[in-house]
Amino acid sequence: LNRRLAAFGTTIFAEMSALAVATGSINLGQGFPDTDGPEEVREAAVRALRDGRGNQYPPGPGVPELRAAIAAHQQRRYGLSWDPGTEVLVTAGATEAIAAALLALVEPGDEVVALEPYYDSYAASIAMAGGTRVPVTLRPHEGHFRLDLDELRAAVTGRTRLLLLNTPHNPTGTVLTRAELAAIAELAVERDLLVVTDEVYEHLVFDGAEHLPLAGFPGMRERTVGIGSAGKTFSFTGWKVGWVTGSPELVGAVRTVKQYLTYVASGPFQYAIAEALALPDSYFEEYRRTMLARRDILTEGLTAAGFGVFRPAGTYFVTADIRPLGEKDGFAFCRALPERAGVVAVPNAVFYDDREAGAPFVRFAFCKREEVLREAVERLRAM
Ligand code: PMP
Ligand code: GLN
Repeated sequence: LNRRLAAFGTTIFAEMSALAVATGSINLGQGFPDTDGPEEVREAAVRALRDGRGNQYPPGPGVPELRAAIAAHQQRRYGLSWDPGTEVLVTAGATEAIAAALLALVEPGDEVVALEPYYDSYAASIAMAGGTRVPVTLRPHEGHFRLDLDELRAAVTGRTRLLLLNTPHNPTGTVLTRAELAAIAELAVERDLLVVTDEVYEHLVFDGAEHLPLAGFPGMRERTVGIGSAGKTFSFTGWKVGWVTGSPELVGAVRTVKQYLTYVASGPFQYAIAEALALPDSYFEEYRRTMLARRDILTEGLTAAGFGVFRPAGTYFVTADIRPLGEKDGFAFCRALPERAGVVAVPNAVFYDDREAGAPFVRFAFCKREEVLREAVERLRAM
């Protein structure tokens, strides 16, 4: 492994899912649902397979039906207009979108400012691009993790090329507010920065929080690469359908890289996701409500078990503080948890450069059936 990537051995998600299987534990580590997405969308994939749509290389930028559906969905939800021909690109999940965007837009030595804790592929993708990661830490404040805009401004230097944002934010569940996004947009315009926004949890917002795409803010359309994922929005994480939206210049740059990473992926699934994106609003609302009910089971259960709980305003993850349990090392805690309780969680420290800052926090996923969550919290309470 080259020096840039030497530190990136095995992702925490693979490690923790393997641990869950080996110990027969309830897996609240890796974020994947234990119930597949809608039957009609699975049927759409079967039809595409049978009819021979997508069994051979689809068009590089994605099948026209899906690009049109992505554009229509953003128009319907956010009032954003994208030209499906030049401003939408289908990728092999959001993971490829992130990697391709960074490889396309970052020069070796450029600084990339990312919110910390950060989703683990960010650090690896910045490293692959030869960039330098500059974390801005979200800090606990009145029950949630908050972005300090002054810290963000201070992190931007003459070498900063882009901001890598994630809202709703994995693992903290923080959803950036309109005022925060407006301030970020102003900063990006003033310092002439590009912004990559990972919005894969766009439909999972709670308690009146609102997801707003940064591309909709003044001056941001030309400098924002927005990223979405059908894995998250429709509970098909194995299909690896993601997408990028942005100006023709930015999307064109990402497309150039994408051609040489995978060229294309997920042929028949692209047709199925085109149909999924056209589902009525009631699908998205039902999905959100289902996850909200699960969030409440998990947050209440973790509180009863003695954790400090940060109630997430978005995503399907809860970050919990283990210090009230008399613990301080999330790594050790998560390694011992399968033995102690038959439950798997993820230590947030892996999402930090400043491992000390992340040490007391662990992440639990709640994209699981209610009975599974109830059993998990029962086990944690009894531990
Ligand atoms: N970004 C974030 C914040 C995520 O949590 C994930 C995990 N699904 C991804 C990107 C990757 O998405 P995909 O599975 O579509 O590659
Ligand atoms: N995004 C999921 C999580 O945060 C996992 C994705 C993966 O395993 N790469 O848990």
